[in-house]
Amino acid sequence: MRVLLVEDEVEFADTLRGALERERFIVDHVDRLAFAREAVLSASYDLVLLDRTLPDGDGLSLVPVLRAENPGLPIIVLSARGEIPDRVAGLDEGADDYLKKPFALEELFARIRAVRRRPADLGAEEIRAGSIIFDLTYDEATVGGVRLDLARRELRVLAVLMKRRGRTVPRESLEQAVYGFDDEVQSNTLDSHISRLRRKLAEAGADIEIHAIRGVGYLLRASA
Ligand code: CA
Repeated sequence: MRVLLVEDEVEFADTLRGALERERFIVDHVDRLAFAREAVLSASYDLVLLDRTLPDGDGLSLVPVLRAENPGLPIIVLSARGEIPDRVAGLDEGADDYLKKPFALEELFARIRAVRRRPADLGAEEIRAGSIIFDLTYDEATVGGVRLDLARRELRVLAVLMKRRGRTVPRESLEQAVYGFDDEVQSNTLDSHISRLRRKLAEAGADIEIHAIRGVGYLLRASA
């Protein structure tokens, strides 16, 4: 089991790493969102333990990125921010569990066992929305068995929207899923990916629509 530990408090991270290693986990520890993002692109993880208050931002912003890379990856948020709205935000963003700091290590390990047992929809090999099937193994989308000719970023946008179909996905989540930390994001590029995606979906006869939610983001749902 390989774990990505995203935590900037050095002592706490060391304690956690020691405990995880005693349980035979292989631990990669990073203390910045930017490093976490690089790590998930270069290695394959079985679990992510994610702090929220990090020097370069809120750990929750990483969750859609992780989901886009690996939809079945168990993610547990570990945060001192443990009020109900914080926990709800964490779970809504796509985390599998949310543990308020401080916590007992036994509880963390019990929760790790629980999220790894969960055969979540998120762990599926494919996602379906209407007539579209997104094959996560081959990273391709088909409509009625015909493969859609999509560019890499159009695929990423479609994957994120399909996983969260019926819900509004904030622009920032889509941008984070599609671009690297160092990429210059022009304010209109997401919109142009979406408009090309819409055109290709319409040409293929897909029975879904991508709605723009002004000032917030986009929502994918079945055509009425
Ligand atoms: Ca922190």
